[in-house]
Amino acid sequence: MGEQNCLFCKIIAGEIPSNKVYEDDSVFAFYDITPQAPEHILIIPKKHISGVDQIEAEDSETISAVMYAAKKIAQEKKVRDGSYRIVFNNGPLAGQAVLHLHAHLLAGRPMKWPPG
Ligand code: 5GP
Ligand code: ZN
Repeated sequence: MGEQNCLFCKIIAGEIPSNKVYEDDSVFAFYDITPQAPEHILIIPKKHISGVDQIEAEDSETISAVMYAAKKIAQEKKVRDGSYRIVFNNGPLAGQAVLHLHAHLLAGRPMKWPPG
């Protein structure tokens, strides 16, 4: 069951449309609506976890599944030079706007370090 009033729970449930990239028992992935790179995909657990701060020990398999899905998607997309960046924003200063844990998979252009 999704969390009420959570945008990403509604996307998982299909109540809000998205361009789905990948789905399995515990993970859902879709294209970001405001892409920051030629490939910008959001990979989320189907379980509502608000952010990295809210990960519990019992979530380790779920988080592992998110990371493994990110790797599979990046390889499947044959992203430029095999290079990609995975970002989790936690908290407002870090730019987290949606309070449902999500990995940003960014690829297809050179990435700067340190990030902005
Ligand atoms: P955050 O800033 O929380 O780390 O990332 C949230 C991301 O969700 C942003 O990159 C934003 O563009 C994306 N986003 C927000 N609303 C929607 C939506 O309705 N559909 C999709 N596909 N992406 C969204
Ligand atoms: Zn949610």
